[in-house]
Amino acid sequence: MIPAKKLVMIPGPVPVSLSVLQKLGSEVKAHTDPEFVAEFQSLLSELRSITNCDGIAFLVAGSGTMGMEMAIANIADEKDKVLVCSNGHFGDRYISICRNRGLDITTMEAEWGKSVTPEEVDRELSKGGYTVAVMTHVETSTGVELHLEKMAEMMKERHPDVLFVVDGVAAGGGVKADMAWGIDVYFTCTQKAFCCVPGMAIVWAGQRALKKREELKSIRESYVDYARWIPVMTDTKKYWGTPAVNNISALKESVRIMLEEGLEERYRRHRNHAALIVEAMAALGFRTLAEDDLRSPTLSIFLYPENMPVEDLSFRESCADEGALLAACLGEYAGKGFRMGHMGNIDKHMLISAIAAIERAAISCGLDVKPGAALAVMQLGLAGK
Ligand SMILES: *Cc1c(COP(=O)(O)O)cnc(C)c1O
Repeated sequence: MIPAKKLVMIPGPVPVSLSVLQKLGSEVKAHTDPEFVAEFQSLLSELRSITNCDGIAFLVAGSGTMGMEMAIANIADEKDKVLVCSNGHFGDRYISICRNRGLDITTMEAEWGKSVTPEEVDRELSKGGYTVAVMTHVETSTGVELHLEKMAEMMKERHPDVLFVVDGVAAGGGVKADMAWGIDVYFTCTQKAFCCVPGMAIVWAGQRALKKREELKSIRESYVDYARWIPVMTDTKKYWGTPAVNNISALKESVRIMLEEGLEERYRRHRNHAALIVEAMAALGFRTLAEDDLRSPTLSIFLYPENMPVEDLSFRESCADEGALLAACLGEYAGKGFRMGHMGNIDKHMLISAIAAIERAAISCGLDVKPGAALAVMQLGLAGK
């Protein structure tokens, strides 16, 4: 039997377009090559426009976790009082990163499936003394989307002196984030909704964040220090660490695809597809971990129905055999469901194939489902009915 082509439906890495992959396979240019220098500079200006950033977009080799470190290292030291809000596993990771740096932090944790609210954050910040607040735009362990615009508006209105840092790793490029809402630092990495391969982080720092970096004088870190990268990001002929030339060309192509689709259209498509997938999975008896009005456009955590006849691992293995790779749940939800990414350049064929693979796995595992139930939802939705 010919094995099914495996669609990578995890929350990053995601399927990558052939034209992007071809850039990775092209001849390696010198980082000083004028063609590359121009391409890099133009990409940085496109990146700035994507989040409406009034400062600098730093594009640096490393994963999203490096982006987390870079964002906090350049905005806070021991003299700062930092509020770190967590909606799940990656929020908890940020708490531990801030704690390791020896920062003075206070934590606020939402129950899994829920989100910290502007009211709660306002109440905490109103106690006074805070200089930085950190939150996660889309929490990858729970599929929860922070209502970022509302949160940022509250911050801007009620706590204008507190710098606002947002982990947008699982959101950037798939969910709108406009830094003019009142966001000082936003970051993501290339293997999620920016739809490129793993390997680089993008950290957007607005003018207020850049000013704060100056006030910190020297920081412990070197590789992720804004001060070291500012000359490069403002004039790509300059050197600090060798830029990942092929990855940068690949990201340029990926951004070209994003801009060709149109950002607003892209954000709308992510929301529409997410709603459709949730409805299709409900037809198979799966519900989401995230509360209804907090479901992320980029990924979903689906919990198994009560009468699930098989173990988590054999269900996900069966999905993989049928052609859809899904991720395990984290924390106390491990074994109770799976995580599905639906971000990036996922077209109708991929969506139908992924849902069809899950439906076949459900049938072969003995779940009591009507064949075609989930697909019927997808077909109607994708046909605009
Ligand atoms: C994936 C992810 C990270 C970590 O990114 P890596 O590239 O795996 O280091 C951080 N935060 C969130 C919200 C994520 O989804």
